[in-house]
Amino acid sequence: MENPIKEVWHGVCALLADRLSTDVFDRWIAIIQPVALDDAILRLSVSNDFYLSWLEENYLPMIEEAVTSIHGEPVEIRIEVRPREVDREQKAGASSAHNSANSESAANLPSNPNTAKSTRRRKPAPKTETRKLNPRYTFDNFIVGSSNEFAHAACWAVAREPARAYNPLFLYGRVGLGKTHLIQALGNHAANSHQATVVYMSCEEFVNEYIEALSNKELVNFRKKYRTADILLIDDVHFLSGKDALQEEFFHTFNALFDARKQIVLTSDRPASEIKDLEERLVNRFEWGLVTELEPPNVETREAILRRKANEMEAEISDELLNFMAEHIRSNVRRLEGALVRAVSYASITGITLTPEILEKLLRDAIDVENQEAIITLQQIQRQVADYYDIRVSDILSKRRPASIAFPRQVAMYICRQLTSHSLPDIGNAFEKNHATVLHACRMIENKMKDDASIRRTVDTLMNKLKSGRR
Ligand code: ADP
Ligand code: MG
Repeated sequence: MENPIKEVWHGVCALLADRLSTDVFDRWIAIIQPVALDDAILRLSVSNDFYLSWLEENYLPMIEEAVTSIHGEPVEIRIEVRPREVDREQKAGASSAHNSANSESAANLPSNPNTAKSTRRRKPAPKTETRKLNPRYTFDNFIVGSSNEFAHAACWAVAREPARAYNPLFLYGRVGLGKTHLIQALGNHAANSHQATVVYMSCEEFVNEYIEALSNKELVNFRKKYRTADILLIDDVHFLSGKDALQEEFFHTFNALFDARKQIVLTSDRPASEIKDLEERLVNRFEWGLVTELEPPNVETREAILRRKANEMEAEISDELLNFMAEHIRSNVRRLEGALVRAVSYASITGITLTPEILEKLLRDAIDVENQEAIITLQQIQRQVADYYDIRVSDILSKRRPASIAFPRQVAMYICRQLTSHSLPDIGNAFEKNHATVLHACRMIENKMKDDASIRRTVDTLMNKLKSGRR
């Protein structure tokens, strides 16, 4: 087939080689493969998502400009991650290959544009709604450690036997800890190995589609889409907070699927009971099945993640440096990845050999953010105190006054005053009370601590736990 793509890409490379240093060119441009040029869209592929995000963030305009000048008309660039070599070889082989054990591989996903055609020819298109699943999220490239092994095991169990193991599965944890990765790995696996109809949506997209369906009078189609899923994955359900009409809709979707024994998996940045303005009946349902938390990885897991990603990037980086990153960037895997990409590209662009000192300078912003985040939040205090007294955070925030709730609430307010620099009105807001209530609570607790050694000990223990980050 005469496709101008080869020539165009050759020209583009010549142009870019001229503009960039050899090292930059070799690391970031030479690794790109041209895929197709159709309808003013140039599709390129790279071997992993690091290249993808780095190119998109740093070189896309330059590539676009070069392509346009070589091709002679404006061209839109789309970069994608291509399937791994082994998978491609297998695909080229016997037509039964896709049924082999390897069918778990991300490369077999029908949504992958590189393999879509051949996949379609060999087997009937699975009834999957996988276009939104990213094939790069697999169980295979998820590093398991003590902070995530339970969540990982739960997702794996559900992926293998949807609607049998745990339903719903509710996964929560702070941002950047792998919720989206795990839930999509589950979806990818189920779509590939059971031909399940998987619908994946961020909750925000669910909201948008709902609003659109409402205004276009297409609610019937909207409902059909969700209610015919075998597996419904909704990412970031904390987004439902305060959206009453949507909660109503979601409640019925949930019931319809659940009653039909379909699998539901939800993620959130906090436990369901702590999502503000979420209807009680939804909180209940979210807690029906298995609730599991993703915690920040420990240092060994962080190092293992870095080593794996460095390997994927084919970057050589010493153990000392990996260890430095793992030690300093503690709370967020996405930030950890960002640090690695930054270090590797800096070394490659400048040709300077990295030392811990240089690395520290390079990562200063990320390290500063980490340190700031180490500051105790009002919500952590509320949660810690609620746990200790065996009540719920929503009790602390409520207007209820029995002593079993009012006293812990006052303790929590006092600790907020002691351990954070928030103002009285800020603290009041966090408790849905006014500043006078906070002031009163602080005075009460101070007095009680003077008179009662056991109260003093309890408050000290709680504050020490919070300061040392233990829960
Ligand atoms: P969340 O949805 O919880 O905010 P993501 O799933 O988007 O987090 O994860 C952020 C990034 O960190 C992603 O690129 C993901 O692949 C990566 N990541 C998180 N946890 C792990 C892990 N245990 N092993 C490998 N990569 C991980
Ligand atoms: Mg996410």
